[in-house]
Amino acid sequence: MSDHKLADETILAQGLGYIDEQHLGVIPGIFPSTTYERSADNSYPNGKIYTRDHNPNYEQPEQVLATLEKGADAMLFSSGMSAATCVFMALKPGDHVVVPKIIYWSFRNWLQTFAKDWGIETTFIDNGSLEALKNAVRPGQTKLLWLETPANPTWDIEDIRAWADIAQQIGARLAVDNTIATPILCNPLALGADIVMHSATKYLNGHSDVLAGALICKESNEHWQKMRSIRASGGAVLGPFEAWLLMRGMRTLAVRVKQASNNAMTFARAFEHHPLVEAVLYPGLESFKHHDIAKSQMSGGFGGMLSIRVKGGEQAAIKAAAHLKLIKRATSLGGVESLVEHRASVEGPDTPCPRDLLRLSIGIWY
Ligand code: PLP
Repeated sequence: MSDHKLADETILAQGLGYIDEQHLGVIPGIFPSTTYERSADNSYPNGKIYTRDHNPNYEQPEQVLATLEKGADAMLFSSGMSAATCVFMALKPGDHVVVPKIIYWSFRNWLQTFAKDWGIETTFIDNGSLEALKNAVRPGQTKLLWLETPANPTWDIEDIRAWADIAQQIGARLAVDNTIATPILCNPLALGADIVMHSATKYLNGHSDVLAGALICKESNEHWQKMRSIRASGGAVLGPFEAWLLMRGMRTLAVRVKQASNNAMTFARAFEHHPLVEAVLYPGLESFKHHDIAKSQMSGGFGGMLSIRVKGGEQAAIKAAAHLKLIKRATSLGGVESLVEHRASVEGPDTPCPRDLLRLSIGIWY
């Protein structure tokens, strides 16, 4: 079904050229059956047994994601969090992991609470510091390095190639949350990572109407098979309708991400020197501290996410958000609409996020 000579954007728009074999429809149907009939010889002829792991509606988006991320295999999950936590559930008590301090806050909380209770020790390091990474790893005990780039909500960039080298030196795996860049702008597996994770709730779906997650692997090895069995036994899978909606949304991923990136760049430039703005945090700006690394590993744009630090602190930031017209005050990101959020209000008193920061998800506008 796939044709690797086509541009990624074309593969995506055509959903790998899928044709429904029964009716010859150009889009798939929705298959709500939870169970599949055995043959008289007691086998399952098409390999499907029960929907907790098998459903025709997972297959097309999983194949598209594996192709886009240049991976060996992909798995859909019921949320980005269930995809991310699955990677850690495949570790053993006593294993050590290294993660930058600034990442999606709910996942940081999970690592500090549930993962810790299960005996997984996490060292949080300063974002953008390879020195801190080198000092934090414990050869033999560190089994996983995890990074998010650009990192929500300050958009710090990690050097994926350098992290992959360190992971390889100590025999650990590198997993990358690629939610913000999307496979349109960055391919972590091609830069040396072993696993890519997405909150498919965001750009992949793109219409703020599906909660979903995904993992993609470079190699379908023992660790991947363990994650597969965690998903199969735990059942953190999408419903068939959600998987269908996700596939529909993904077809326009490339055009949405490119337009959102263009809009974000224009917006960042317009506010960079604004008298009421302390700083614009956007990897596409030459003035951004990690711009050079971003440029070296992203192509086609720098994404639709940016943050503004407002002069006057927290109250001034909240007041500024209240004045916006086109941009709605709501959490989440990556949809066609544009959203703004005072992040510290969500993340609570212990957040490393500056209190004057407004996070913007720049959507589609012309
Ligand atoms: N990773 C990033 C970068 C996110 O922004 C989010 C959610 O906002 C997640 C992971 C978690 O994804 P989900 O909400 O789909 O569980």
